[in-house]
Amino acid sequence: MTTPGGPGPGNLPPNYNPNPNSIADNMQNLQINRPNLPPNAGRGPNPPFGQQPSPFQSPFSGPSRPGPPPPGAVPRGAVPPSGPPQGALPPFMAPNRGPGGGPAPPFASRPIGSGPFPSPTMGAPGPRPGSFGGPPQTVGGGGQLINGPPSFGPPGGMQGGSQYPPSAGVGPRPSVGPPPSPPTMSSHMGPFSGQSTPFSGGSPDNQPRGPPSQAPPRGPPTFSAQGQGIPQPQASPFGAQPWQMQSRQNVQPPPIPGPVQPPTMYGMQPPLPNQQAMATISPAMGAGGSAVTGPSKIDPNQIPRPIPNASVQLHETRKGNQANPPPPATSEFIVRDTGNCSPRYMRCTINQIACTTDLLNTSGMQLALLVQPLALPHPSEEPIQIVDFGDGGPVRCSRCKGYINPFMKFVDQGRRFICNFCGFTDETPRDYQCNLGPDGRRRDADERPELCRGTVEFIATKEFMVRDPMPAVFFFLIDVSMNAIQTGATAGACSAISRVISELPEGPRTMVGIATFDSTIHFYNLKRALQQPLMLIVPDVQDVYTPLETDVIVQLSECQQHLDLLLESIPTMFQSNKTADSAFGAGIKAAFMAMKSTGGKLLVFQSVLPSVGIAALSAREAEGRTNISAGEKEPHKLLQPVDKTLKTMAIEFAEYQVSVDVFLTTQSYVDIASISIIPRTTGGQVYYYHPFSALSDPAKLYNDLRWNITRPQGFEAVMRVRCSQGLQVQEYSGNFCKRIPTDVDLPAIDCDKAIMVTLKHDDKLQDGTECSFQCALLYTTVYGQRRIRVSTLSLPCTTMLSNLFRSADLDTQFSCFLKQAANEILTNPLLHVREQVTNLCINILHAYRKFCATVSSSGQLILPEALKLLPLYTLALIKSTGLRTEARIDDRSFWINYVFPLSAQLAVPLVYPRMISIHDLNIKESEGSVIPTVIPLSSEQVNENGIYLLENGEDCLIYIGNAADPDTIRQLFGISSVDQVPSQFVLQQYDNPMSKKLNEVINEIRSQRCNYLRLKLCKKGDPSGVLFFSYMVEDKSPSGLSYVEFLVHVHRQIQSKMS
Ligand SMILES: [Zn+2]
Repeated sequence: MTTPGGPGPGNLPPNYNPNPNSIADNMQNLQINRPNLPPNAGRGPNPPFGQQPSPFQSPFSGPSRPGPPPPGAVPRGAVPPSGPPQGALPPFMAPNRGPGGGPAPPFASRPIGSGPFPSPTMGAPGPRPGSFGGPPQTVGGGGQLINGPPSFGPPGGMQGGSQYPPSAGVGPRPSVGPPPSPPTMSSHMGPFSGQSTPFSGGSPDNQPRGPPSQAPPRGPPTFSAQGQGIPQPQASPFGAQPWQMQSRQNVQPPPIPGPVQPPTMYGMQPPLPNQQAMATISPAMGAGGSAVTGPSKIDPNQIPRPIPNASVQLHETRKGNQANPPPPATSEFIVRDTGNCSPRYMRCTINQIACTTDLLNTSGMQLALLVQPLALPHPSEEPIQIVDFGDGGPVRCSRCKGYINPFMKFVDQGRRFICNFCGFTDETPRDYQCNLGPDGRRRDADERPELCRGTVEFIATKEFMVRDPMPAVFFFLIDVSMNAIQTGATAGACSAISRVISELPEGPRTMVGIATFDSTIHFYNLKRALQQPLMLIVPDVQDVYTPLETDVIVQLSECQQHLDLLLESIPTMFQSNKTADSAFGAGIKAAFMAMKSTGGKLLVFQSVLPSVGIAALSAREAEGRTNISAGEKEPHKLLQPVDKTLKTMAIEFAEYQVSVDVFLTTQSYVDIASISIIPRTTGGQVYYYHPFSALSDPAKLYNDLRWNITRPQGFEAVMRVRCSQGLQVQEYSGNFCKRIPTDVDLPAIDCDKAIMVTLKHDDKLQDGTECSFQCALLYTTVYGQRRIRVSTLSLPCTTMLSNLFRSADLDTQFSCFLKQAANEILTNPLLHVREQVTNLCINILHAYRKFCATVSSSGQLILPEALKLLPLYTLALIKSTGLRTEARIDDRSFWINYVFPLSAQLAVPLVYPRMISIHDLNIKESEGSVIPTVIPLSSEQVNENGIYLLENGEDCLIYIGNAADPDTIRQLFGISSVDQVPSQFVLQQYDNPMSKKLNEVINEIRSQRCNYLRLKLCKKGDPSGVLFFSYMVEDKSPSGLSYVEFLVHVHRQIQSKMS
């Protein structure tokens, strides 16, 4: 297909380096706290030819990097070394929807008493603004090639105040995850053993205890190691250990006898000293499901828990021509792409590929990829190289269309190449030929990003376009029904939009539109020629149309003032609105029709259950409650859309490249299960503010909206994953629309969205060979360039089961568990899903016990090192909002929607949140990290004298113990006692060191999570306290066993399978 093209061998490789600073610029705008590099993180090897200096040398800098740009400026870095790709981009021509093209809309007029906008009965459809047909202008000058993150100006209102702290960005990665597994870890760990000491190392008195996790988890591994295969740390070219060795060589504590009580909710008795240490777990003990009355012989101090890793790791994706297993997704790392793509873009559940399906099945593990093609890099990482092959487009395999990558093998003096996916041998395009060196590689391999990097971005040719790249269109649809107005949701939305619009890039390619709705839909003519925006009302919410197609969506530069005025006026215009009905379905349909010709992002602010017009919904929740109390009789049906209307609409939206995000600012049930089908199918997302608080939520709403439109993203995208012969893609899951089996359609995709790709064998793989995976994302940047981002990962194939366990990737496996569980609860009773999840865990551990463990005492629970936290995470999943019985239907629906596109990095904290103590912030040593040491999620760790913060990436709960020091409470929260804890909380910074530190900690967490997080103060004897303790997943609770009990249960199940 592809004709030879591109630069001759002698030319510089076309290196349209995107602004290497653009991502970081974006970060700066978001006021991200930059991570500290290890002091001796030196620079890596010289950058490839033509490349920007390695950012390892100076992480954020570059001479072209001044500080944060002044407001309104569009920061740009270095001008690309070459001219624009493929000449100028074709002019953007909006499909011609001339005046009078459609039926004359019967606009009704809506008198609005005090409103500043005239409401004509008919808006005269005018011609499109002339500049629509003009050539695209370079945004910001010289930066036309910039991809990804819009380099918008800095936040208008972000400075200073604690009310709007930085919302997002890449900062230090969460530290909740397990320690990195050494590349050649031992295949299994030993039996439980160790000293039986109280859970937190003290007596169960009420004295404040030190951070308990500092004691046990820091020491020897919670399981002692069988002394096999302890890897030697490898020297890192960066001057830091790429792999933090776990101190497994530590001396194992002598077994001190003593029964250990399983942890209970409160007031656990300390174990008696000097009694039988447990080396074995007898199946007779600790019956699953019921309280363990007899002594369980598991020491809570010795069971596996995540050990946060404070230091930043440097990760080379390949070393010595071999794939280097990635650090945990939940750790903080800096990647150097040495041939395989960064694990941020694609990671596999197992870092070695089973040669046969039998071997894989025996392991009990699943083979799946988690791809996140536009993932946010660490600010210290090299930018992705842009490669232009000219008119011929990128070199591809002529049979399977796989893109050129470092694993295609050139033969016959470079005249031909063998595809690493289908094995086909192709002629090398004449002008792409190059001689091979003595090592068999092309001599220019290190100079061509596509031959030495796991991820590159190709300039797409005409062949990849069905039309000219679309402009960046943002359409805001705002609920102005009575409830929305009265709760302050409308005002919050208008204020957020108003502030965000000023951060959109100015330029002809940025277009905006606004509509409001209650039981009717109100469009606004934003055309500049008019003195004021005109309101145009669409009263028919069954058969919707859009008035004035050409002037409802206007270039931002033409309507900025109108927009500001309009957004300021909307809350007042509708302040006495008595219409309670909401025509959500009709509203999005009408907005879609306005956007149909271009595509774009539709951002909907909805406050009540849609009640009239197309796709009106009924309150199904009551039905759901009845069902749940009647023994879970199909309540899962409430988690599915009520009918197909919205799904059909969503598919049509996706066809026209319209992506929908829904911001639910509500006090009541809104049927997220039905509404969410729209964002899920169109590459959008659901935001949920429940119960909406006019005091504390507008800040989050603004930050969420801001990150939504400023984060790196692309439009009108198509994605496909290819893999080597022997494997094939089984299924994709995430937020997208699928029309053909091989591709997923993404009207929009952004840096936060991950897609799970399950794989299956269709043949045997050869031991000793490698198997490749390639994710190709064709998309349009916000600046209107068509690009193909290609990430390739090549992993070794193996016939050894032990290799599979050794190279298992816990975070990725667990992410897949989580997504599959979320999918299962749509169609199965919760009880059934909880069983399935538990069985997945048991099957894996059983396979390991049966085939890999060398120690064969039947009384021992033996966990593979790489998966030793799997039982804990499984238990946490069972107790999560999604799987526990008592969750509200909307909460569960939101949880499901949150999980579907979730990255591996955020999957673990969602179910196993991070908890820290904050009453002692001013005493704690910083240890190089702003965030204090993590505490295990057990109520044993929560002292009523203390104050604790818990966050899961979305919510942040602060628990104030009943006996917490009043002075500390006052310093942190400005209230005099725990009794004054407000139901709505806005974090302030007070003039004392404690408060300052707390603000630092929370800002750090927010930047790590790319999320503003909803803050809530919790206290005992209050629903908030119950909520807080529901996250103590190691406790025995109505939703499940204690951690110790669960381990006993798992062990018993394994034993019964063994016998
Ligand atoms: Zn091929």
